[in-house]
Amino acid sequence: MAVKLTDGAQLGVTNHDRDAVAKRYVYPVVSRRAGGVSVGVNLNPNNACNWRCQYCQVPNLVRGKGPLIDGQLLARELDEMLQDIVHGDFMLRRVPAHARQLKDIALSGNGEPTTSPHLGEAIEIIAEALDHFELLGRVAVVLITNGSMLDQPKVQDAVRRLSSLNGQVWFKLDAATAEGMERINGSKTTVQRQLARLRRAARLCDTLIQTCLVAWDGRPPSEDELRAYLDILGRLADDQNAPSAVLLYTLARPPQQPDAGRLSALSHEWLGDLGRRIEATGIPVKVID
Ligand code: SF4
Repeated sequence: MAVKLTDGAQLGVTNHDRDAVAKRYVYPVVSRRAGGVSVGVNLNPNNACNWRCQYCQVPNLVRGKGPLIDGQLLARELDEMLQDIVHGDFMLRRVPAHARQLKDIALSGNGEPTTSPHLGEAIEIIAEALDHFELLGRVAVVLITNGSMLDQPKVQDAVRRLSSLNGQVWFKLDAATAEGMERINGSKTTVQRQLARLRRAARLCDTLIQTCLVAWDGRPPSEDELRAYLDILGRLADDQNAPSAVLLYTLARPPQQPDAGRLSALSHEWLGDLGRRIEATGIPVKVID
C-alpha cells in the first residue's frame, strides 16, 4: 500500500498518494517522469481500468470504465490546487527543494482516463484553469493512457484539443507481442491494433511512448520480446509523425496486483543498455530509474 501522508508531509517520488491533499479528483505528486510537480486529474476514482497491468499501483483495481464525475467539483479542486501552487506556499510546505517547479497537469489517476465519459469536459476545465493562472504554454497537459480507446472518435477529438494546449500523449507500450501484452497488461488486444492506435495518437498530438519493464521471478524480458519491441520502434521512427521519445522505466513503488511478489525492478545498467538499443532505432529515449 502507498504510505498515507499526514497533512503537511512532503511529497516524494516513491509516494503518489491520491489523498495527499484530501480532494476527490485532483492530487499533486513529485513525478520522476515529469521531473518536478505534476498535478494529477483522476477521472477514475472508482479504481476502474479496462486493462490489468501486473505492475499497476492502483489498489483494489477493477475492470471497467470511468464513472460520471462532478465537473463543478473538479473545476473547483483544480482552481484551489493551482491557487496554492502558483500563489500560495504549497511548494515550500510540501515539495523537496530540487523539485519545486510545476511541470504538468496530468490526466492520470486510478484507472484509464480515456474510458471516462468526461474526458473532453475535463480537458476544457484544465484549459480554463491554465488560462486563468496564465499557465497556457508554460505547463504541459499530459494524457497518460494505455491507448486502447484511441480508435474512438470522441477520444480522438479530446486528443486533438489536448494538442492545442501544449499537450502530450504518453502512450503505454510495454510489450510488442500478443503474449507479452496479455501477460504484462492483461489485455487481449492485438499488436497491430495497438500500433494503429499509437500512430493515430502521434498524428493528432505530440506523443511519447511510456514503457515500463520489470523482471519476473528475477528474469528480465526475453531477447525475443525485446527484439519485437525494438522492431516496432524502428518502424515508428520512420513515420512522418513519429513518437517524439520513449520514457523507459521500471518499478518504483510496490505493485498492488496478485502477481506483485513475482515482479522486481530492473537494474540501472540493464535499463541503460536497453536505452542505447532504443536510441539506435532513431527515437530518443529518457531512462527513468
Ligand atoms: S493501464 Fe494504467 S491504470 Fe490500467 S491497469 Fe495498467 S497501469 Fe493500471
